Amino acid sequence: MAYCDLCNKTISTSEVQHIPLREMQQAVRHGFNPFKTPGINMASSAGLASAFGISAEESFQEWRQRLLADTTDWGLCGACADAFHKAIKKANITSNITTQVRSQMPTTKPHKVILAVRIMWVLWAVFALGGTVANWKAYSKANIGLSALVPILLVLTLLLLVVRAVSVGRNWARIIYSLFLCFGILSLVADLGRFGQVTAPILAPAIFFAAVCAIIFYLLFHPTSSSWFRGTH
Ligand SMILES: [Zn+2]
Repeated sequence: MAYCDLCNKTISTSEVQHIPLREMQQAVRHGFNPFKTPGINMASSAGLASAFGISAEESFQEWRQRLLADTTDWGLCGACADAFHKAIKKANITSNITTQVRSQMPTTKPHKVILAVRIMWVLWAVFALGGTVANWKAYSKANIGLSALVPILLVLTLLLLVVRAVSVGRNWARIIYSLFLCFGILSLVADLGRFGQVTAPILAPAIFFAAVCAIIFYLLFHPTSSSWFRGTH
């Protein structure tokens, strides 16, 4: 045997409908009042209270305080549970609850990510142009022909897919792209090592590339961007 937490009716344990405490509290914060909800009979609490000269409003306020300080889920009889669900549906409380949960995550793409993706496209174009020209020169000398461009085209296509995935918020793409950049910086350092003498015309593009990488890292891993990436995927 159990009691309904709203109307106090005696019900069997199997009849009890459990309402999470959080849901009850949210409903009450959004204006749910069982004393004024059709289908919920609060006479046993209101009747007793009015015998002591306590008004319905005072009973509700007292009940509200008790609910907000409560620590356990609520058990209602079938009739009260139905009335409760109908009331929160009517007052649009359920959608309010979902909106609140959703609004804690940024749903629109942060400006930092938009900017990062733009820089990534420029970098892609520069890489595409430079890579194609360099490979073309090297391989046309060796007389291998058009097939020489296959590896660079493969890498470019892969990069294109990864940048697109970053743009729509895939977290794995953000990590893969960062690994690409790290690899780029490492191979650049290795290249610099091969030149016996590091001169300004060699060093300047390298420093510029490293700076661009640093900016992309900053934009992609800023807390606002990170929570967007985690929120979307
Ligand atoms: Zn009840």
